[in-house]
Parts: sequence; C-alpha cells; structure tokens
Amino acid sequence: MRRKLIAGNWKMNGSLAANAALLDGIKAGINQPVCAVAVCVPAPYFAQCKAELTGSPVAWGGQDLSVHESGAYTGEVSGAMLRDFGCTYVIVGHSERRSYHGESNALVAQKTGSAIKSGLTPIVCVGESLAERESGQTDAVVGAQIDAVLGALDAGDVNKIVVAYEPVWAIGTGKTATPQMAQDVHAMLRTRLATKNAAAATSVQILYGGSMKPDNARELLTMPDIDGGLIGGASLKAADFLAIIRAV
Ligand code: PEP
Repeated sequence: MRRKLIAGNWKMNGSLAANAALLDGIKAGINQPVCAVAVCVPAPYFAQCKAELTGSPVAWGGQDLSVHESGAYTGEVSGAMLRDFGCTYVIVGHSERRSYHGESNALVAQKTGSAIKSGLTPIVCVGESLAERESGQTDAVVGAQIDAVLGALDAGDVNKIVVAYEPVWAIGTGKTATPQMAQDVHAMLRTRLATKNAAAATSVQILYGGSMKPDNARELLTMPDIDGGLIGGASLKAADFLAIIRAV
C-alpha cells in the first residue's frame, strides 16, 4: 500500500504574518492525518516553517533548487541549504519553471539528481499543454519528460522520487482532468518507472496536480494510481487544504 501525500505548492505567495496564520490553521485542524502532508514554500520562509512545523505532522520543502553545490551562482539556492532549514521535499520541473525559466527535460533530470544527492525528496512535475493533449501527444510528451529523469537516475534511486502529473491546462485554471484521464496518465507513468526498476515502481507516489479542490479531491484520490495531490491555489486556505487532506 502506498501512503498518500498531500503537498501544497504556495508558489510566490505569502508573508510572515499570512504564513503564520495559515500554518496555525493547518496545525490546529490536522489532528493525526492518515496521509503524509507537506508545504512547499518560497525559500525565505524555510526558517519560519522550521520554527512553526518542527514536531508537527507537516513537512516542508522548496519549489526549486540549483544543480550546483555552492559557488558563484548569484540568486541560486542549493539542496544543502534547503536541508539546513529542515526541508525534506523540493519541487522540480514545475511547468511554471519549464515555461518561464526555460527549464529543459535535461535540466529537470539534473535537478532531480541534485535533490537526491542532497538528501531531499524531489517532487518531479510532468504534464502536457492543452495543444499537446488535443493533438494526441500526451503520452509522448509526458513520457519523454519522465524518461529524461529516469535516464539520468540510478535504478536504485527510483524509489527516492515522487512524481506529480500536472496537466498544464489544469493548473490554476479551475479545469481538472477527469479522474479517468488522470488515472490513464498515472498508469502510463508507473509503467515507465517499471522499465527502470519494477519493484520501485510499485512504491513511487504519483500525485495529481491541477485545480485539485475539496469538491473534486475524493474522486481523484480514489483512483488506483493516484497517490496524492500537489495543490496550488487551494493550499493557501487552511480550510481547503485540510478538506483535501480529509478527503484521503
Ligand atoms: C500547481 O501549481 O502545482 C497547482 C497544482 O496549482 P493549482 O492547484 O492552483 O492548479
């Protein structure tokens, strides 16, 4: 049985005061969740998460990391720096980074390796655009994205990643993939993972992301290969995030 994971992606949102209220709200309502829970926050707030979440059931992480360990890379943040502040997860290859920062499949693969080397669990995002889905290229595009990561990974490290299937057309749009559409891609992803390490493929958590909300979470999370959610907008409201956790 794979344990489910509900991870929030705050993106570039928050302030010390707003985060304190959000984290207090999550902690107050979370009790003992049946699933793993994490929030992926902007780097300046790692220290706040460490102070507020240590000892709680909520883990925290970043939204990106450098492929470099240290040195003259202005503006970059290394995996070791994330670890210094207690991060356990880091999102890698989010579609916003792929499209606004030109991150290629090869770079995402490299970042996945850097995260593992730093002792972080990378949440590797993959997903097709609307045009790609409508032209029947979903499996080819998403397959190439995951294959690039698997190609750069040791077989023994396959069980150290989390995969997030996030159709680009569903992110922040209010449009959600139907449970069956998502399940089909998740099953394809698991088959690809199995080509690298069959045993690990059964244990890798594959999350769905893209307008997951309290009212659609349950039907998505009951699909056999959907092992949790990567939640953007709805992770910024404690009540919504908690409702998704309770839908598990
Ligand atoms: C995301 O950006 O990872 C995401 C899933 O966003 P939203 O839930 O807002 O669609």
